[in-house]
Amino acid sequence: MKAEIVSIGTEILLGEIVDTNAAYIASRLPALGIDIYYKHVVGDNLDRLAETIGRARDRSDLIICSGGLGPTQDDLTREAISAVMGEEPHVDPELEATLRGFFESRGVKMPETNIKQCWVIPSGRAIPNPRGTAPGWWIERDGKIIVAMPGPPTEMTRMWEKEVAPELLLRGSGTILVTRTIKTAGMGESTVDELITPLQESQNPSIGTYAKQDGVHVRLGAKAATEEEAWRLILPMDEEIKRRLGPVVWGVDDDTFESIVCDMMKERGVTLATMESCTGGLLASVVTDVPGSSSCFRGGIVTYQTETKIEAGVPASVIDDYGVISAETAREMARVARERMEASVGIGITGVAGPDEQEGKPVGTVHVAIDAIWEAPRVLSYTFNQGRTAVKRRAVTTALGLLRQSLLTHRNESLV
Ligand code: ATP
Ligand code: MG
Repeated sequence: MKAEIVSIGTEILLGEIVDTNAAYIASRLPALGIDIYYKHVVGDNLDRLAETIGRARDRSDLIICSGGLGPTQDDLTREAISAVMGEEPHVDPELEATLRGFFESRGVKMPETNIKQCWVIPSGRAIPNPRGTAPGWWIERDGKIIVAMPGPPTEMTRMWEKEVAPELLLRGSGTILVTRTIKTAGMGESTVDELITPLQESQNPSIGTYAKQDGVHVRLGAKAATEEEAWRLILPMDEEIKRRLGPVVWGVDDDTFESIVCDMMKERGVTLATMESCTGGLLASVVTDVPGSSSCFRGGIVTYQTETKIEAGVPASVIDDYGVISAETAREMARVARERMEASVGIGITGVAGPDEQEGKPVGTVHVAIDAIWEAPRVLSYTFNQGRTAVKRRAVTTALGLLRQSLLTHRNESLV
């Protein structure tokens, strides 16, 4: 099945918002055995929208649209699809009752402009959208499908996962692609590559290495008639690669550094406390992105100014002797965080996020310290000058990597 994606909205066309919907959809098509041939971005203009959808429908089997399903004048996706199909929309009484009920339950009268969200055309049906007022559209005629989903990503992704992808899977023919991503840290891309070189000759699954922010990823992709068959191809290779790479492998697929570190802490009954300076609480934020992190994360303090660090308990003498941007200060921050919050491990981060240098230390200088009750403190110091956001992100990734290493020794000790 050949597919094209159409992202609708002038904001996307002008670069005011990034088209994450198309990336999301495109990345999910291979697993359904669908080939993606084109992606389009069209503004809120009826003629150009109809032209784009029409042209896509002439040469492809599946057109997946997102956006333009709202109630306003510039939401024109339904009008464009109706024009392409040469069909007249009509109000579906059931959809109308549901939508009016939705507004009533909020104590407001439905604005009459919303009525077009109750439209359907003869070749189509509405796709439920419990997260918003705009149902999607599934239009099917002459062996071709047009899917229209709402623009807001939370609405679109739910509709895709629950309604659209399962339906497309049923119609899937031929081969599907299943992927497995093995995630590593602490080893360069060329070393990873070298260790798995002989395996890379494999065609199915194919193997590729990619340097990412959280380390080097090895991606396996297997094509087969069924998902089970594809996994049968992938699993032996997955095992062999993990065997060759050893302990640098920290996770697979959707695992994130923070999720696996939280899992490890829970397994070992370890709790974490943080004191952050240049990352401004980003580490705490990332850790608390993990559902259930409350069982292992005691809390975090952001001590941005020097006086605040001292008030929090970092000895002024250490700051005087070594400077606020120093391994020693980071180590004290980690210790103080751990002690104050009665955690088993503390992390301290200090550095220069930029754009100006501080204490004569260059932008991007970062010290990350970890103070765990089961081993001597560790500090990692480095310089990474890539702009404020990247400096902060890198510091968080480094902290989580350091924590993981420390937790690995915790396990070994308890095994002895
Ligand atoms: P609404 O009922 O909210 O108007 P809609 O289906 O008409 O929904 P749009 O008006 O096109 O959708 O987009 C609504 C919002 O959804 C946009 O302002 C944007 O924040 C987000 N959005 C739309 N399309 C995309 C996209 N392709 N990628 C990422 N975000 C998007
Ligand atoms: Mg809209």
